[in-house]
Amino acid sequence: MDMQVSFLDRLFESGLLIETGVDGLYGRSGQFEDVIAAFERLIDRVGGADGAEAIRFPPGMNRAYFEASGYMKSFPQLAGTVHSFCGNDHDHMSLLQCMEEGKDWTKEQKATDIALTPAACYPLYPTVAKRGPISMDGGLFDLQSYCFRHEPSKDPARQQLFRMREYVCMGTEAHVTTFRQTWMDRGVEMMKSIGLDVEIDVANDPFFGRAGRLMANNQRDQNLKFELLIPVTSQANKTACMSFNYHQDAFGQKWGLVLADGSTAFTACVGFGLERIALALFAQHGLDVAQWPEHVRTTLWG
Ligand code: ATP
Ligand code: ZN
Ligand code: MG
Repeated sequence: MDMQVSFLDRLFESGLLIETGVDGLYGRSGQFEDVIAAFERLIDRVGGADGAEAIRFPPGMNRAYFEASGYMKSFPQLAGTVHSFCGNDHDHMSLLQCMEEGKDWTKEQKATDIALTPAACYPLYPTVAKRGPISMDGGLFDLQSYCFRHEPSKDPARQQLFRMREYVCMGTEAHVTTFRQTWMDRGVEMMKSIGLDVEIDVANDPFFGRAGRLMANNQRDQNLKFELLIPVTSQANKTACMSFNYHQDAFGQKWGLVLADGSTAFTACVGFGLERIALALFAQHGLDVAQWPEHVRTTLWG
């Protein structure tokens, strides 16, 4: 029988990704991480002069903020929350008993104050809102976080824990739409500079359920989300390696983000899927970095 070896199998065999027994949850080799680090330095070079404020949040966020974000309305299927054992000695005995009997011991876990971060920018909005009005020059932030989405898959480009590098802009409508356009142009140039075929297309988020269909259509009709697509596992179904999201004043309203003149702030964010970009490079140029085209290696490593 002619067995087709999948890209994921080749990544495991090469050691670039390391199996954990869970689809979408992988270890990464030093070489894989080195590609991500080099690409992040490229992002720094391209965006560095803009003067963004760098902030790094851990991959968990305040559950109260998570709830206020409305994530459970739009994407309940993707959410992850952190639960812990909060009982006494007696409860501990029944917990161990339950595990011993192979029963579901997780039911007695209680929700903690932490939810897993679904996108790098989620903890930012309430943080900035607490600081008070945003200057009329706008606010610009540089974020990177591991993000969790419950979407187990055999596609190596669809992971459950992956890193997103983001720039987030808050300001007037003109300010944030210009920001988004600038990064769409920069994104295309950056991917070309590392030898990747790119295409930009309008997109929508996977809003849940019947009401979600309407929201997805609305998002498309208003051109609120664009994706930068690169072939990773398939030429026909390209993978979104960046996204460019315009929230209008929806997040400004939700979080009470105001500009110095008292008006509600508009916001936009651009996200780089770091694992996806690394995988796109390995798919395009091969699993051996030493064999990558010279110009690509020079762009990444100087
Ligand atoms: P997709 O349509 O492929 O599910 P998305 O629209 O959900 O992508 P965003 O929510 O815009 O993606 O997230 C920003 C970026 O994070 C994406 O452009 C992508 O590069 C990356 N990303 C999103 N989901 C995953 C995932 N499950 N695994 C790895 N990277 C991801
Ligand atoms: Zn974002
Ligand atoms: Mg998605």
